[in-house]
Amino acid sequence: MKPGIPLSRCTACNAGFYPSRLICPRCGNATWRDDEVHEGVVEQSTIVHHAAGQKDWKPRHIASIRTADGQMIVAGLEEPLPDSTRVALFDRDGSPIARKMTGG
Ligand SMILES: [Zn+2]
Repeated sequence: MKPGIPLSRCTACNAGFYPSRLICPRCGNATWRDDEVHEGVVEQSTIVHHAAGQKDWKPRHIASIRTADGQMIVAGLEEPLPDSTRVALFDRDGSPIARKMTGG
């Protein structure tokens, strides 16, 4: 697990996306630079109770996270968190994970 989530940032309008896109939905540009996002705020969280074709599935908490620059990403939670919780973002084997920010 490493801190930060890789983000593709549009070189024209500066919008960041995760997962990355081929064409920027905001401005139609197709050139990107790599960036990272490290924190956000829980917008809405939910529990995924079932997944098609998966055995031994345990209910999983996921959340829509609004990042510091206003992009929405979906990340897994290690524990249920109320809306508006500030979270730190991590990359766990290519999956975004949000963890409650401690201190600060
Ligand atoms: Zn753009």
